Amino acid sequence: MSATYKAVTLVGCKIRKDKIFFKKTVRGCDHDIDTNKPYCSECGRRVWVNKNCTVEGFDPEQRKLCGYRMWYRDWDDYVLVSATHNCCSMEPISNNDCFYPLPLSPDGIDSVVKKMEERLEPLSLWDRRDFGIWTFLYAY
Ligand SMILES: [Zn+2]
Repeated sequence: MSATYKAVTLVGCKIRKDKIFFKKTVRGCDHDIDTNKPYCSECGRRVWVNKNCTVEGFDPEQRKLCGYRMWYRDWDDYVLVSATHNCCSMEPISNNDCFYPLPLSPDGIDSVVKKMEERLEPLSLWDRRDFGIWTFLYAY
């Protein structure tokens, strides 16, 4: 088994991964007990447990965030979210004809930025300084 690499360029934004994937401390059971103790006296479970959570708007099956395609690699501490419908990608071992134009919305980049801000800002995921053209190497 070997990995296949390709270079991907997208118009979109970079978001810290810990804003998307994080742990939350929640009750381990529903019994009405002293929550300062480590274990429940009724069922023996931990009173508090760490639960893996994701931000609202993340769709793991589609790998989308607020409807936008999301790219991330295990070793990075950020994700990239594509603001436009398509990405430009290039296979490294193919010939020179293997890249495609990146279509931008006909109403311009200002509209693309505004729409992305409207979706990401309510979740505290928007920072205009992290919006731009991103290129990275992607393995699959
Ligand atoms: Zn319990």
